[in-house]
Amino acid sequence: MINSTQINTAAMQRFSRLAAKNRLAHAYLLVGPQDSGKTQTALSLAQLVNCESETVKPCGECGPCRKIASGNHPDVHVIGNNEMDSIKIDEIRFLLSRAHLMAYEAKTKVFIIRNIELMTMEAANALLKTLEEPAANTLMVLTTSVPEANLDTIKSRCHIVKFFPSSVNRIAKILMDEGVKSQDAHFLAVYSEGCLGKTRKLIEQEIVAQRRKVLDEMLLNRNNDNFLKDLSGDPQETTQALRLLLSFFRDVLLLKSGMAKTELLHQDFLKEMDRFSGRSFEDLSKIIRQIVQTKELVDEKLNVKMSLSLLREHIWAN
Ligand SMILES: [Zn+2]
Repeated sequence: MINSTQINTAAMQRFSRLAAKNRLAHAYLLVGPQDSGKTQTALSLAQLVNCESETVKPCGECGPCRKIASGNHPDVHVIGNNEMDSIKIDEIRFLLSRAHLMAYEAKTKVFIIRNIELMTMEAANALLKTLEEPAANTLMVLTTSVPEANLDTIKSRCHIVKFFPSSVNRIAKILMDEGVKSQDAHFLAVYSEGCLGKTRKLIEQEIVAQRRKVLDEMLLNRNNDNFLKDLSGDPQETTQALRLLLSFFRDVLLLKSGMAKTELLHQDFLKEMDRFSGRSFEDLSKIIRQIVQTKELVDEKLNVKMSLSLLREHIWAN
């Protein structure tokens, strides 16, 4: 399904203008942070070039628009996923074979290749061939969040469209319109670095409740053995908890440096922030270093129980 709030409107306006003049290129590379709406925008572009509406395109209502939205259009292909699996030569070969065949029903066949930094070298070289000899009525839309990892030869054959993170206020407003409480919406918007797609993932991961629990347990409960024990058994949860803690101590440092309280992320923990901002910079950097070191242990798949206990000691040292 296409989530319209994730579509990059500036990019779509540009595509619409070009399409109206029949001047769309045959290949685009959408560059932007993870979850910044690149795939949603690519799908919207696929609708734009195949929409049957006589007025506003994409209409979202006609046959092609609907088929693309539900992932059932035989001439619109999406390759690559979010799971960070590499994109293999076979997938690109499949694409090449399709690109040179007649379309089943589309005006323009569209191939969306996500996260092209995950292509194997073989796959990248095969793709390069298609870009050099574009098939008729075919549009390639590639996406990446790490443009420096991609072959210059691929980049030079695509028109590059850059996506920037949205403003915190815009994202917070969208979330509030959907019923998220204002304080949580502000937190989600800042914590996701302005990527609406990321806020959705964070909501799925129940980050709002988790944030409260982590901060409560780590900052307010000195006897949190059970919490640390549970946490250390789950690397993903540990990583998330460490990120949250790091963002709290970042707030503390900002507060200590004179930042206005309204600018801080964890608005409901101001009392604790005040308390910690009374500690020395040396003390605080000890805590932060310990958080970072614990994260490194998680990354190396090592046991973090000791490291978490040490972090608790630094937090409660006085
Ligand atoms: Zn349509």
